[in-house]
Amino acid sequence: MTGVLADIVDIAREQVLERGEGLNEDQVLAVLQLPDDRLDDVLQLAHEVRMKWCGPEVEVEGIISLKTGGCPEDCHFCSQSGLFESPVRSAWIDIPSLVEAAKQTAKTGATEFCIVAAVRGPDKRLMSQVAAGIEAIRNEVDIQIACSLGMLTQEQVDELKAMGVHRYNHNLETSKSHFPNVVTTHSWEERWGTLQMVREAGMEVCCGGILGMGETLEQRAEFAANLAELDPDEVPLNFLNPRPGTPFGDLDVLEPSEALKSVAAFRLALPRTILRFAGGREITLGDLGAEKGILGGINAVIVGNYLTTLGRPAETDLDLLDSLKMPIKALNETL
Ligand code: SF4
Repeated sequence: MTGVLADIVDIAREQVLERGEGLNEDQVLAVLQLPDDRLDDVLQLAHEVRMKWCGPEVEVEGIISLKTGGCPEDCHFCSQSGLFESPVRSAWIDIPSLVEAAKQTAKTGATEFCIVAAVRGPDKRLMSQVAAGIEAIRNEVDIQIACSLGMLTQEQVDELKAMGVHRYNHNLETSKSHFPNVVTTHSWEERWGTLQMVREAGMEVCCGGILGMGETLEQRAEFAANLAELDPDEVPLNFLNPRPGTPFGDLDVLEPSEALKSVAAFRLALPRTILRFAGGREITLGDLGAEKGILGGINAVIVGNYLTTLGRPAETDLDLLDSLKMPIKALNETL
């Protein structure tokens, strides 16, 4: 047994670390199936891969919700859907609050500030709010702006590009085969189409998802392969934090070892991408998770609070990076 198990780590060492070629779907599955006593080995390799192909810098990002709750879609994990008995009510924030949040984010050393809205896709009102918000931030804060506004038309892609949006986030959320069990109000292909338009317009593509939504290990490996095909600039990796009132409210939280194995597997599938710890890691991994992940292939974090749940305070993560001697990526390196 150990012979086979040793193989995938050895294969990955030669293929991914030495040659920079990501693991394919079957190989990712083999990593996900490793027994827990191999976890440290595979995390160590993922860390080496990240250091070799991405370097020691860690990208820091802040996010703000411009419009919260009341979304017409039915993503089963999401407390912002208006279709479930969720506690999140529909609300907008004003432009001065947006600028203030961007300022606070920049103070942490973050290079990216992502404006998020809980919508299927933007309407005219949202597009004009985003335009006004970006202009106001630009006048006062030195930070790159990302947006996450759902599915886009070509015209909206062009408008966001013209506003100077640097990166666009749109998550595929899970593998193509599992997606219909997670969302029924739109398709995986629709999401894929938005991502292609974003890429063609010259914006950076940010696309990740949530692990622990009832997908099999095979489907988790499929998802890593889906992302490798898309080849995004950034992959935010979330772990399901089951929200009361959502259809996934009763699912179990991933075991820490499974979550960390997944982090390593995604790094080995995507050696050069920015792999970001996003939501749910506190509940899945606890306080130790940040360190294990950042020493296991992660090279980006979100500071402060997530959209609907409390994250760790910015200082905790920034102190950790400092103690691990991992510099925060500077703004001029990302331009
Ligand atoms: S994930 Fe996005 S699109 Fe889906 S329900 Fe939540 S806010 Fe709406």
